[in-house]
Amino acid sequence: MSDSGRRGRRGDENASVARDDATSSRAASAPALAMGNDAPLNEAHRKAMSRHSLVPACWWIMAPAQLAGVALISLASLSLPRPLTAAMLLAGILTAAAATLMARIEQGYALNDRRRHLVMVAAIGLPMLCFGGAVARWAAELDLRDWRASLAALVAASCLAAILLESRLVSIVTANLALWLGVSLIAGTPATLTMLVAAALASRFIALRHTRIAAAEEAQHRERDRAQRRAGEILRDYERSGQGWFWETDRRGLLTYVSPTVGAVLHRDATSLLGRPFSEMFILDNGGPASERTLTFQLSARSAFQDLPMRAATPLAEERWWSISGRPLHDDFANFIGFRGSGSDLTERRRSQRRASRLALYDSLTGLANRMQMSESLEKILAQPREDQRGCAVLLLDLDRFKQVNDTLGHPAGDALLTQVAQRLERTVDTAGRVGRLGGDEFQVILPGPPAHPDLVQLAGSIIANLSQPYSIEGHRVLIGASIGIALSPEDGASSQALLRNADLALYAAKDGGRGRHHFYAEDLHNDAQMRRQLEQDLRDATAGGELELHYQPVVQTATNRITGFEALLRWTHPLLGPLSPAKFIPIAEDTGLIAPIGEWVLRTACERLAAWPESVRVAVNVSPLQFANPALPAIVTSALNAAQVTPDRLELEITESVFLQDDRATEAMFAALKRVGVRLALDDFGTGYSSLGYLKRAPFDKIKIDQSFVRGATIPGSRNGAIIRAIVSLAEALGMETTAEGVETLDELDLVRALGCSQVQGYIYAKPLSAADASARLADGPCAIASGPRSARPPRQTMLRRVELEHDGRSFDGTIRNVSAKGAMIECAWPAPAGDALTIRLSSDQAIVATARWSKPDRMGVEFARALPSDGAGTIVLPVASSLPRSR
Ligand code: C2E
Ligand code: MG
Ligand code: MG
Repeated sequence: MSDSGRRGRRGDENASVARDDATSSRAASAPALAMGNDAPLNEAHRKAMSRHSLVPACWWIMAPAQLAGVALISLASLSLPRPLTAAMLLAGILTAAAATLMARIEQGYALNDRRRHLVMVAAIGLPMLCFGGAVARWAAELDLRDWRASLAALVAASCLAAILLESRLVSIVTANLALWLGVSLIAGTPATLTMLVAAALASRFIALRHTRIAAAEEAQHRERDRAQRRAGEILRDYERSGQGWFWETDRRGLLTYVSPTVGAVLHRDATSLLGRPFSEMFILDNGGPASERTLTFQLSARSAFQDLPMRAATPLAEERWWSISGRPLHDDFANFIGFRGSGSDLTERRRSQRRASRLALYDSLTGLANRMQMSESLEKILAQPREDQRGCAVLLLDLDRFKQVNDTLGHPAGDALLTQVAQRLERTVDTAGRVGRLGGDEFQVILPGPPAHPDLVQLAGSIIANLSQPYSIEGHRVLIGASIGIALSPEDGASSQALLRNADLALYAAKDGGRGRHHFYAEDLHNDAQMRRQLEQDLRDATAGGELELHYQPVVQTATNRITGFEALLRWTHPLLGPLSPAKFIPIAEDTGLIAPIGEWVLRTACERLAAWPESVRVAVNVSPLQFANPALPAIVTSALNAAQVTPDRLELEITESVFLQDDRATEAMFAALKRVGVRLALDDFGTGYSSLGYLKRAPFDKIKIDQSFVRGATIPGSRNGAIIRAIVSLAEALGMETTAEGVETLDELDLVRALGCSQVQGYIYAKPLSAADASARLADGPCAIASGPRSARPPRQTMLRRVELEHDGRSFDGTIRNVSAKGAMIECAWPAPAGDALTIRLSSDQAIVATARWSKPDRMGVEFARALPSDGAGTIVLPVASSLPRSR
């Protein structure tokens, strides 16, 4: 490539660099304006650009300067130039005066290098050439009489040119060469011209080299500027985004720089932080991680630190966290000169961490501790070094009938109920212990400290009472209950698993015992649990194998002594355990879902039996609340009636108060549907459940059955039961309902309920539940019933669960006293003594009671004591403690 070609290309490159600069300066100008402190940068850039030009705009000053030179020479020589000289002077002055225009042409148009040099020669070389030539001519005109003034003007012009052209070496050389060329052309010799040409060549070479070096330096300079500008902009953008900020301190730890955004977080001007200690930006006694100590330590140790969580010194109500990193700075002599680092916002991350750990430890619905945290709390207590510190009580709670609420009102209502339960539970337990939800409707309470039995009984009672109060859920009145199992540490288990398992067994026992009660763990519950599991399976087999039976207990009209109907009662004779009470196996059937097929079987069987009896006789069938909640019940009833061909008014469904715990609308719809079928409805066990009488208004009952607990003891002087029965009878009469007194056993009780106005009586005084065949035989004898039984009640019995050792016929075996009166007891045992046999009941190694068996069944017997047992002041029979009972063989 030729030299001129290379030059042309270089010129193009320079021009493009200039263009790039112009573009980048325009691109940078927008943020630069916003930043304010970019203005000096732009100014420097503009200066650099103009320094790079060949013709400075200020070159016009050369025009008045040349004029002043002319005046000076004229004064010094007292002469005026001749016309040609004057014309040359004028030409020089005018071309110099046009410098501003030429500078604009050079910079404003994208000229290549050659053209820029031409412009430069025209703007700078031409006026200097004219001036040099004119001054030389003038001196010649004056016969070289006074070259001093002319020389001074030439030297002055040369100096001024150097000043005006600053560092533009090519322009300076051009200006000087042109000036002296002008002089030489007029007054020089060939030698002068030769020297000038040589000087011009040397100058051009040096000037070009110099220009190249300057251009390279300039490019480097610009690149550095641009990189710095970009870095500055990136950092400022980062600061402004609020994601992070920067800080710097001096060697004393005082801030020398901090990002402006920090000021906004700390509610103060960031500049006011400058000169303040770095640590002033944080709350150092935050009680959080030990990062505050770490920061102080790292700063004083002058060592780098990374991601220290620090709480910002914001007002206390507003919590902000930063993650701080920093490194020490040293000068060229390795002297420590301060710290520099960055910070980023940690608040959201900490919040989500806290949320996550809350979720891991707390129940999200109720806000109570969850299973994991409760288990940790328990482990902590049980891991205490001293045994007396390991004492605690674990209460396991299960809500009774919660499932029904969930099923009928829906899960949102169930959730609302659980939340209210949690609040009540926390209020009741208060500071005495810790409450948690294990899941579903299962709650747990841990009471630390050696457990005191009476306190636990009281607390369990309060919990059950409080949780059994009505709830208002989405406008519905909801009633539930609670059962509690209690296990104590250390006696009931040393590990948390053992304690929980045992509390669970106790809870099962509480539910088994009729719900709404608490139960302490006892060793034999393991057997009970095992037994229950076995019973569940046996009941399944019995249902499938048709082992269930229905017995029928007569219901007698008090006014006429005639049998008006029978109540159908389920009977199950277990292959090993013998006859089992429905009170024992019906709850199992309800828990396992077997109640549906069993209930339907009862309905169909009772209706079939009814079909064989006289038209005047009815049959009453017990309906579990779970059956009642089944929308298919009316259809099942209709189908049973149709299959047996009996009229609906001969069938009575006995329903307990617990059905009113379910959704009002569903309950009312069921009542209406059953009424449409045409069956009669009786309210069973009235007074034992939920004392709200409101439902009596709405429910279309035909009969109220007064529970036997009101009849029992009603004849004892001072008992209020008689008054209660009277009130129930009045209420029923007012509502147009009949009344049946249940469980009438003595003639006195019969007289009383008759006197109190009960319309019907059902009890052993007339007949126990009879097999289907016996009931039919009884009806065949005629409708009249004859009361027969003791006049008054036998002595009151206390129920208990007391292990004893029995000695009979030379053998010793275990037994359990289930109830006791002063005169006798009912004992469960594997080998009951035949009626009439004598036996010894060993209570402890040195206490025994001699008794005679009065009746005997496969798993129990009734015994009469040889001597009546003593009782305490309140009439309670006291049996000696069985601490020293010897083990039976
Ligand atoms: P319930 O419906 O209140 O039945 C009356 C219970 O009192 C029966 O007990 C009956 O034998 C007993 N009884 C009647 N007269 C006397 C008396 O003079 N003295 C004493 N001490 N008891 C008397 P049972 O047969 O053990 O039934 C207990 C409960 O089991 C029933 O109470 C009922 O709630 C339930 N049950 C029985 N059969 C069924 C059934 O087929 N389905 C459902 N869902 N529950 C049933
Ligand atoms: Mg009943
Ligand atoms: Mg009843």
